[in-house]
Amino acid sequence: MIDEIADKVRAGERIGAGEALELYQGAPTGLLGRLADGVRMRKHPERIVTYIIDRNVNYTNVCVARCNFCAFYRPVGSSEGYVLGFDEIFRKIDETIAVGGVQLLLQGGHNPDLPLTWYEDLFRAIKQRYPAFKLHALSPPEVIHLSRLSHLSVPGVLARLIEAGLDSVPGGGAEILVDRVRRLLHCDGKATSDEWIDVMRHAHRAGLRTTATMMYGTVETDEERLEHLLRLRALQDETGGFTAFIAWSYQPGHTELAGSEATGIDYLRTLALARLVLDNFDNLQASWVTQGGKVGQLSLAYGANDMGSVMIEENVVRAAGASYCMDEVEIVRNIEDAGFAAKRRNMHYGILGDPIFRERQVPRMLELATSRQAGDDAVPAELRLYPARSRTGKTTRM
Ligand code: SF4
Repeated sequence: MIDEIADKVRAGERIGAGEALELYQGAPTGLLGRLADGVRMRKHPERIVTYIIDRNVNYTNVCVARCNFCAFYRPVGSSEGYVLGFDEIFRKIDETIAVGGVQLLLQGGHNPDLPLTWYEDLFRAIKQRYPAFKLHALSPPEVIHLSRLSHLSVPGVLARLIEAGLDSVPGGGAEILVDRVRRLLHCDGKATSDEWIDVMRHAHRAGLRTTATMMYGTVETDEERLEHLLRLRALQDETGGFTAFIAWSYQPGHTELAGSEATGIDYLRTLALARLVLDNFDNLQASWVTQGGKVGQLSLAYGANDMGSVMIEENVVRAAGASYCMDEVEIVRNIEDAGFAAKRRNMHYGILGDPIFRERQVPRMLELATSRQAGDDAVPAELRLYPARSRTGKTTRM
C-alpha cells in the first residue's frame, strides 16, 4: 500500500487524509524525504534556495492570552513587561536596512493598553520614513484581539491596518488548528481554528499574501497534525493566498506546559509530510531557529526550498531556552554546501539578488539582538497619547 501511495505522489497526484497518514506512520524516513524532495524539485527545478533578510521584532511582551506553551509573555502589570517606543523600532529598522534587510516581521502579545490607533500610527510613521520597507505584521490572533478591543469586525480591522501600511500577515498563532488541542494549550480563547482560518481568508480577500505555520509536538496526535495541514490545503484551494508554510517544534523551556522537545527525525518527517500534503503551496521554509543549522540544512532534502530569515533579532524562541544564530554568511554556506545556489528574496518570494555580503561589506552578526537590553525598562513617551484599558496602564499613563 505504501508503494502505491508513493507512486501516486511521484505521478503528481493529490493524496487523501488516509493515504497521508499511512505514509507518515509507515514509510521509512528516507522514502518520505525522497518523495518530498521529488515534489520540491518539480516545483523548483532551478536548484535555488532562497532566504530573506529581515528582523523579528516583538513590540510588546505583555499578553492577556496566557497560552501555556509560551515562555515569552508577561502578564499585565509585570515589572518585566515592555512596549517598544516608535523611536526604538525606527532604530531597529535602520540597523536592518544597514545589513540589507527589507522587512520587519512584527508580532507581539495581546496588550490591552495598545489600541488600534497605536498600530495605525506606528505603521504610518514607518511607511513615511521607509516607503519601500515592508511590514509583515500581526498574526491572526493579534488581529482578533484588535477586533475585540476596537469593536470592529476582522475585515474592518484589516482594512484599517492595510490603509496604514500593512503588507502581509504572518501565520503565527496557528499552533495546531484543531480545537481539542487548542483547548489543552489554553489558546482557543485567543483564536479557535475557524477564527484563525477566517482571518486568513479575509486577509487573502483583501489582497494580502500571508504565510501559514504549525507548532507541533505538544499534545496533538498524528491525525491532528494532519488535520491541521488539510485545513490549510483547503483554504489555499479556496484563495491561493498563502506564500509559504513553516513548521516548528514546540520549545518547552520555561513554559507552564513543560515536556520535551520533538526530535530532529520527527521534524524532518513532519516537514516531508507537509510537502506531500500541501501540494498547492509553493514554498516551505526550513526552521533553523528551532532546529539549529544542521537540521535546518538537512531540511533542504526533506521538502524545504527556503531557509527562512537571516533574522537579526529573535525573542520568542530564545525565551524558551533555544538560541541558534546564523547570519547571512552562515546561511549561504549551509545552502551552498547542500548543493544549491543561494538567493535573497522579498516577502513574495521574488528573487532580489545574490548574497548581499558578496556585493558590499556588511558586519558579521554573531548573536541575535533582543527586543530590549537587559535592565532597560524605559516607557515610551508616546504611550501617554493612547488610552489604556488595564488598571496598571491607566495608572501609569495618568
Ligand atoms: S503565544 Fe502569543 S498570544 Fe499566546 S501567550 Fe504568548 S504572546 Fe500571548
